[in-house]
Amino acid sequence: MKTGSNEIIKINNDRSQTKAVRHRSIAAAMFLMLLPVLLVTACFPNTEPVYPELMRSGSMFYSSSGEDEAMIRTDTNTGSAEYYNGMSVDDSGTRTEMMAFVPHSIPNASMLLGVQAEPEETEKPDESDEPEEPETPKKIAYITIDDGPSRSITPGILDLLAKEGIKATFFILPQPSMRGLDNLFMRIIDEGHEMGNHSFTHRYGLLYDKDDTEPFKNEVIAAHEYILDKYGYTMKTFRFPGGMMGRKAEITDPRKAILDELGYKYYDWNIDSGDTNRSAADRETTAIINKVLDNTRDRERLIILLHDSWDKQSTLEALPEIISGLRKQGYSFDILKNYRGG
Ligand SMILES: [Zn+2]
Repeated sequence: MKTGSNEIIKINNDRSQTKAVRHRSIAAAMFLMLLPVLLVTACFPNTEPVYPELMRSGSMFYSSSGEDEAMIRTDTNTGSAEYYNGMSVDDSGTRTEMMAFVPHSIPNASMLLGVQAEPEETEKPDESDEPEEPETPKKIAYITIDDGPSRSITPGILDLLAKEGIKATFFILPQPSMRGLDNLFMRIIDEGHEMGNHSFTHRYGLLYDKDDTEPFKNEVIAAHEYILDKYGYTMKTFRFPGGMMGRKAEITDPRKAILDELGYKYYDWNIDSGDTNRSAADRETTAIINKVLDNTRDRERLIILLHDSWDKQSTLEALPEIISGLRKQGYSFDILKNYRGG
């Protein structure tokens, strides 16, 4: 026969079990979701341009986990975002590393790495006696396009940028076994865009091993030398695959030191177009346009994250309106090599 106090104990046990089960099931679900990736990797260890596709598969895996609250925390009011790479966060705030596998983009993320996220604008004291400032600060948008080139949309992006007279920054993956892309790499260079280093493989497990920074360094150098040898182009700007924001300092600090040593500057973004979001609705052309244009918050410097791959037709379709909308908001465009703080 149960006493009242036993029942309370039982309920408490049930609660902690539920919590433990929940965390175990997250881990189990993540493992199951990664299993095809592991199998593919094990079966085809030398299949080269698998990485970008794997990464995108990764986004889809997350879509079925239903546990994003534990992974991504975004404050749309302040524009700040927090995400935990491969971590679970329990109710006490303890972070537990699960696996180095993260969604590629962060919904509503508005933190610019290397530059602190701007604080919310506070109301200015009434200065109505003073005349309006005659000049508005110069506003610059840096369009960045990651993970390409791709035969399906890079030509269209380049054509559009040429038509609009705009230069952008392409954080490319070398993709040595993808035939027929040479002319796209060359077009990016010849048409005056910036080509940025985005590692060689985009594999988080290699790049962000907490005990070993050598693979990261090797990847940066390998991509650098590949592009230099093949196209005679020297890359100077790096973007961390998956971004730096939210990664622990113990992971990013030594890697930033490596990039400093190699003479690289590195940037995340402060506007995510959402074109790799889990939700298909977010990846619609109109959603991508709105995600960018509705989140500029009149900042002087925008670094906009877009993606280039076979399935990003809507990104290409969104770009004309993104450009015209940004122009209407007073932005001009530049490449990250010329980045100047706002
Ligand atoms: Zn990427």
